Order: sequence, then C-alpha cells, then structure tokens
Amino acid sequence: MKRSLPIFFAGFLSFGLVLVLMGATQSPTKAVEDRDVYYPATEDLAPDEMRVVALGTGMPSVRPKQAAACWLVELGNGDKFLFDIGSGCHERLAAQKIPYDYLNKVFIGHLHVDHMGDLPSLWLGGTVMNRLVPLRVWGPTGGTPELGTAASMEHMKKMYVWDIGTRSGVIDFRGGALEVNEFPFDGINEVIYDENGVVVRSIPAVHGLDGAVSFILEWNGLKFVYGSDTIPNKWYIEYAKGADFAVHECFLPPTLLVTKQGFSPQEALMVGTQGHTSPEQFGKVMSLAKPRLAVGYHFYNDFDTEPEVRRRIRKLYDGPLALALDYMVWNVTKDDIRVRMSAVDEEVWPSPALKKKIAPDTGSAIAFSKFTISGALGFPEVTQPLFDEINEMYGTEVEPVFKK
Ligand SMILES: [Zn+2]
Ligand SMILES: [Zn+2]
Repeated sequence: MKRSLPIFFAGFLSFGLVLVLMGATQSPTKAVEDRDVYYPATEDLAPDEMRVVALGTGMPSVRPKQAAACWLVELGNGDKFLFDIGSGCHERLAAQKIPYDYLNKVFIGHLHVDHMGDLPSLWLGGTVMNRLVPLRVWGPTGGTPELGTAASMEHMKKMYVWDIGTRSGVIDFRGGALEVNEFPFDGINEVIYDENGVVVRSIPAVHGLDGAVSFILEWNGLKFVYGSDTIPNKWYIEYAKGADFAVHECFLPPTLLVTKQGFSPQEALMVGTQGHTSPEQFGKVMSLAKPRLAVGYHFYNDFDTEPEVRRRIRKLYDGPLALALDYMVWNVTKDDIRVRMSAVDEEVWPSPALKKKIAPDTGSAIAFSKFTISGALGFPEVTQPLFDEINEMYGTEVEPVFKK
C-alpha cells in the first residue's frame, strides 16, 4: 500500500525523536542508578539514618502475603531491634540476611500468639542460624505474676526441654541462653532500655487484659513509636505526639469483618472497636498525635480492602499515612522518609557465625538408651566412605558413632 509523503515523514521524525530521547537518558546496557526497590543487605545505613522494615503486618490467621506482627528497626549506629515476633514472621526476618548475633533484642508488646508466636523459632532456631549470643527479651508484667512475660518465658523453656536436650553437648549452644527483662505494664513512659545512645520506653496499652504495652524508641533525635495492639488510649496520644514514625494497629472496619471474615455483627463491633482499633478510631488517634508519618497495620491489606480502610481513616485524618504490608521498608532521617518494597531472595542461607565457635563439652550430651541404639543401622559400607572423604579433604579424624 502506498503511503502519502507527509505521513511517512511524520512517522520517521517521531521514531527518530524516541531514539534521541532514549539515548539521552540511559543505555540499555547500563544499570538503573535510582532504584525503587530495597534489596536486603545491599545498602549502607547512614550514621544518622533509621531503617524500619515491616516483617509482619497481618492478622492472627497468618497467610502467605502477611505474617503476624513483627517490626525491625535498624539504626545507623549498628543497633537492631525487633518489636513483636508474631507467627510466620521469622522467614521474613531471615530474608533480611542479617547475622543473627545482631538480632538478639526483642520487645514484646503483649503475649498474644500473633505477637510472640515465632519467638521459640528465633530463640532455638536462631542457634542453628549461628547466633552465639544470648537472646534478650523485654516484655511486660501481667495483672498477676503468672500472666507476665517472665512466667511465660519459664514455661517456654520447659516446653522446649527436649529440643534443648538434643543440642547440649552437641553444638556451640551459647545462643540458647535467654535473658528475660520483665518490666511493669503500668509504667508510663518509663525507661526499659538505655544502651549505646538508644532509649526505649514503655507506655500502657488497652488490649486483652492488663499486661499490654506500647513502645517508644528514641535515638539521635528520631522517635519511633510502636503500638503493638491497643484501642485508642490517652498514653499513646500523649507520648506518640510528633513522633517521626508512629505505628498503630488499624483493624478492618466492622462491615468487612462481617462480610469478609464471617464475624457476627456483635463480634465485629466488639472485636473491631472495643478490643482493636477501627480505621475511624485510628484516624482520630493520628489526628491528635500528628506524627511525621502515621503507619497502620494489623489488617488484611488487599486491593479490595485497602481503599475502604483508607477512606474511613481519611474521614478523620489528612496527614501523612502508610498502610503497611510485609516487606515494606522506610528509610527515616530528619529531612526525609522514603518508602519502598523489598525484593526478597527466597533462597537465602544463614549468615556465617560472627564469633569463632567453641567445641561443645560432649560430656554434657544426653545419651540414647540401649533400646534406641539397638535399632540403629550404621551401614558402614555406605557411611565410612563419607567419613573418609571428609577426613581426607580436611585432615580430620572423625569417626562414626554408629559403626555396625
Ligand atoms: Zn493482641
Ligand atoms: Zn494482634
């Protein structure tokens, strides 16, 4: 088909313009400099910078998209803090590729499973992930001693006595030590941590039973507030005021609890506004606290729920707002708060130990009974060559336990 000359020229000129523009911006073989994605363990943190990573933003019923509550705060001085360690968050934490010796400080807002369900995994699993320092846990007292964090941790140790038994005398188990710091749940802005220029305070929360708190971390002129779970309360509004980064729960509205979650109307209202904070209540809290960035979490954040949650918040609050998803990352400085999503490597391996491992005292190992040993098949014709192979490669003289 024959084209007219003006149309041919117009097409030729616009194609040329596209080529010139492409050439002027970037070559197809060059890396893009300004990335919109965070790749864990590939960026320095500036000395005055705070990085906040959402590792669990969903509901108690965990799902692939959202684990239960967990927030990582990394500071430019090298310190790292975990706020809550809810069910399903540990794999998200592993994806940050941080050596586990640095992941040894956990602050638990209350003892609901969606806020501490992965604590045993971080504690004992952490020793397998090469943590060689004790795990340090901070958590509130309860209304009675047996409802407090210290009692809970004592029971956790008993619950895992078999697990611990398999490891003692077998591996360097220094990471199995658990340091428990229980503090009064009714302390108002009391200091519970003060090390290396970082101060963490606790304020009471209203949720579940006596024994729920929120946390305030301050460092280098930056203030991070973590509500854990609470309905609106006077302490949060007073002490989160003007924070640089204020996290507060924001549940689904009662309407969606009925239609999407199958709650009865009464349940939806009670759970959604009297046990937790609805979007409107969240909006009210943030309109009074006025942080630099208000961050809502603790709801199934999907394409069809987020707009409704946002619309309801916006009835009462028009300031800076983020509705968190797992792997959302914020870089916070005095001048700027930058938000991105992480790109996660699913094939992550544990980081090597930071300290030299000590050979375990094999004398403290618990032996098998004669009964169990009687069932073991050493298969020396299969196993001995494996020992020979390694001993030859590394100049060692290791012998199998089961020889017959
Ligand atoms: Zn809770
Ligand atoms: Zn919760």
